[in-house]
Amino acid sequence: MASNGSSVWKMPEIKFTKLFINGSFVDSISGKTFETRDPRTGEVIAKVAEGDKQDVDLAVKAAREAFDYGKWPRKSGFERGRIMMKLADLIDEHQEELAILESLDSGKLFHHNKVMDIPGAANSVRYYAGAADKIHGETMKCSGEFQGYTLKEPIGVVGHIIPWNFPSVMFFAKVAPALAAGCTMIVKPAEQTPLTALYYVNLAKEAGIPDGVLNVITGFGSTAGAALCSHMNVDAISFTGSTEVGRLVMEASARSNLKPVSLELGGKSPLIIFNDADVNMAIDVAMQAIFYNKGEICIAGSRVFVHEGIYDEFIKKITESLKDWVVGDPFDSNVNQGPQVDKKQFEKILRYIEYGKRDGATLLTGGKSCGKKGYFIEPTIFTDVKEDMMIARDEIFGPVMCLMKFKTIEEVIEKANNTIYGLAAGIITNDLNIANRVSRSIRAGIIWINCYTAFDRDCPYGGYKMSGFGRDLGLHALEKYLQEKTSNGVSKLKTP
Ligand code: NAD
Repeated sequence: MASNGSSVWKMPEIKFTKLFINGSFVDSISGKTFETRDPRTGEVIAKVAEGDKQDVDLAVKAAREAFDYGKWPRKSGFERGRIMMKLADLIDEHQEELAILESLDSGKLFHHNKVMDIPGAANSVRYYAGAADKIHGETMKCSGEFQGYTLKEPIGVVGHIIPWNFPSVMFFAKVAPALAAGCTMIVKPAEQTPLTALYYVNLAKEAGIPDGVLNVITGFGSTAGAALCSHMNVDAISFTGSTEVGRLVMEASARSNLKPVSLELGGKSPLIIFNDADVNMAIDVAMQAIFYNKGEICIAGSRVFVHEGIYDEFIKKITESLKDWVVGDPFDSNVNQGPQVDKKQFEKILRYIEYGKRDGATLLTGGKSCGKKGYFIEPTIFTDVKEDMMIARDEIFGPVMCLMKFKTIEEVIEKANNTIYGLAAGIITNDLNIANRVSRSIRAGIIWINCYTAFDRDCPYGGYKMSGFGRDLGLHALEKYLQEKTSNGVSKLKTP
């Protein structure tokens, strides 16, 4: 037993470290492995099989056969849903172990994993299980004697490529609707966080998902991920990650079989606080928007625009509030913020903090790493940020807030839209007219009013502009994994 702060947890045995192809855990053909590390210390947790093109070929072959000849796409939606419900129950049964693995691999808070991410993953499976037998086409009364109907069919073999910031949530945001649609698939988890994905496929097998339907290739993006994207036998790619890699995914599709891709990419989202807002509430929302999940969240409200009428009060109070913010061991339930995911991300964030100082922004709080080991960074706030500074333009993906002042609604709409991204935005005001006007004027896929990071699996989620296209969550996500076939017929029967 290891005791950390107020949480007691047992180090789990790392049971699954191999590729999962056609229902079996196997070594990579090359025999290579890579290390996954604990971001609290930088120490190795496990060595995991490193799949590359040859392994992707095997996984695609298994998924292709399972799709072309197997039972899964041919089962009734109800039957697929029944098996998925069993998987959801198994996830619940293993919740504690999964939450520990997720924290060890990613530095995410254990209590968040236990009450939100892992139960949320199980509930996503249930949501799409419930939808599996409600996938309907349409009927059309065409001209003359013709009639038409459409059939929604699974798109085929899908490649899912996922990032490290929400490994379980992302895994099932993609896998659950694809399973419900009747697809077969290969998942490439992020190399930083492979452990829970391997655990889930074992549960999927136990639940009765047939061999070949759900395969996992752990490994690196430029090898395993790229091989999946350019594979001629993969019918669609669902990608979540950086805008830079999203572009490579599209290029690979264009150069291979023109498979449809959906891209959930980066962001630099604005949070706009008007002067009629309750400042204490606005501070809670602003802190949640940028410091939740240590800022490693694509929808992070990293550009905070505060009306000049409340700016000074906001600065004073947020500085006070941050005194109670605890950075530390993610297994300690008193901790608000764990370590960044890895050394690379840690160094990138610290580099951006230096750019902020160099470019003339004022460091209000934080700005340094903390702890003797691991990848911990203080929650950091810059004031006097100008729109053209690198810290205001680039996605930092860390706990760094850029505070800016505004005077008029027109000015702040223009500033909020002054970004290549369009993932999310937040508005804090009690004025319905302002809320409506601003939410309609901002070019982003998700707008939160008087809240932030409020997700519901029934609401579609995705970006505008260079934050991508296609939607995860909600019934909309099913569309990525379906294609529509039209049949036209003529009736020869004479009506009396
Ligand atoms: P990343 O783009 O570096 O990696 C994401 C995934 O793509 C990983 O599995 C990686 O191995 C793989 N990959 C890398 N190169 C590849 C290639 N050439 N071909 C195919 N796959 C490749 O991103 P990251 O650093 O893991 O995650 C952070 C980024 O993800 C941020 O930009 C963040 O905003 C974004 N993100 C977006 C959302 C969203 O829903 N919009 C959610 C989470 C993260």
